[in-house]
Amino acid sequence: MAQPSLNIGMVGHVDHGKTTLVRALSGVWTDTHSEEIKRGISIRLGYADTVFRKCPVCPEPQCYTVEKKCVHCGAKTDEIKTVSFVDAPGHETLMATMLSGAAIMDGAMLVIAANETCPQPQTKEHLMALNVIGIKNIVIVQNKIDLVPKERVLESYQEIKEFVKGTVAEGAPIIPISAQQKINIDALIQALDTYIPLPEHKLEKEAQMLIARSFDINHPGFTYEEIKGGVIGGTLTQGSFKEGDDVEIRPGLKITSDGVTRWEPIFTKITEIHAGKSKVKKAVPGGLLALGTQLDPSLTKGDSLTGQVVGIPGTLPPTRDGFLMKLDLLQRVVGVTNESEINEIKTSEPLMLNIGTATTVGVVTSARKDLAEVKLKRPVCVETGAHVAISRRIDSRWRLIGVGIIED
Ligand code: GDP
Ligand code: MG
Repeated sequence: MAQPSLNIGMVGHVDHGKTTLVRALSGVWTDTHSEEIKRGISIRLGYADTVFRKCPVCPEPQCYTVEKKCVHCGAKTDEIKTVSFVDAPGHETLMATMLSGAAIMDGAMLVIAANETCPQPQTKEHLMALNVIGIKNIVIVQNKIDLVPKERVLESYQEIKEFVKGTVAEGAPIIPISAQQKINIDALIQALDTYIPLPEHKLEKEAQMLIARSFDINHPGFTYEEIKGGVIGGTLTQGSFKEGDDVEIRPGLKITSDGVTRWEPIFTKITEIHAGKSKVKKAVPGGLLALGTQLDPSLTKGDSLTGQVVGIPGTLPPTRDGFLMKLDLLQRVVGVTNESEINEIKTSEPLMLNIGTATTVGVVTSARKDLAEVKLKRPVCVETGAHVAISRRIDSRWRLIGVGIIED
């Protein structure tokens, strides 16, 4: 399998079938954490890779498949492209995870179950998040058509059409499927291949990778020789990495001494690069990567580096513990049954900010109508001009209220 060439996000309300659909397309069940299995919902970001293929003999859309041998005629199928799926949780308390996943999506499938009225709260909140983050390549998946009569499928189709009017998803194809019964998966692959094009690679720029997950892959009982360095997973947004590169990770490590806290960049070397299921010598943007490093695995354990940025030493954007941002707030709070108006941002209120794959809390130190200055609880490594997804605490939950652009 070649390096995955793009990331497709799975978004939509809890239980509408995102994880089941990833399995239908890739064979991977992304809910693997014991807590996720117990609760039956995705809590962390799940990864899976697959290759879209085409049968050289059969007509469209039947020719589209993920099987190496055509299920209709038995011919050997040709590879079209490799994709990584980013399975975001649909539960309302997990918006921060959804937003950090959205930062690495090149396009998204908005999964909507036909057996419930549309929109459900997180269907709306996730579509708004795609809007705010600027993800324009969307395929709408109308799932669970096996559960309802044809009349309801048509009615649900009309609800979806109405719901996406005036949003980034207006005009996006709506593909009726059953993820569980694997009905119409060929037509879905065709739509994904058509409507989610390969991202621009920006190879001439300096390497920058957003960390989405980090791991300690060692098992108890490993001997000293068997211990592997820390592993970081994420996506290159620009530039390239090769095996053996020296890298810097920012903001890095939190160090507190004499009651003063500072963050120090971490320096290490890339020992291995995994893209999809294969080991590669060089990696470029597109799809999800896992980098083996010389880091002490305790530093990468349990997603501890999520939200940080990796690059060649000395080339990363500054680490900021505060910034000024230009605001573009939504009209109303979405994701709740009782939608209220969004009031202006006030001095000293805490906001949840998602920047790239990072989640941090910023306390507003000064606010004007369309500008706010924030001081961060946890610093971020980010360029001027970057987008910030802004959430506010409303009725004890963080709700997306708009977008900011970093000015300074
Ligand atoms: P997620 O929360 O969006 O990831 O949803 P899951 O993939 O975990 O699915 C939630 C439930 O719906 C599970 O019990 C699935 O088996 C079921 N499900 C998913 N897709 C379909 C479908 O196409 N038809 C039917 N009948 N059930 C489905
Ligand atoms: Mg799920």
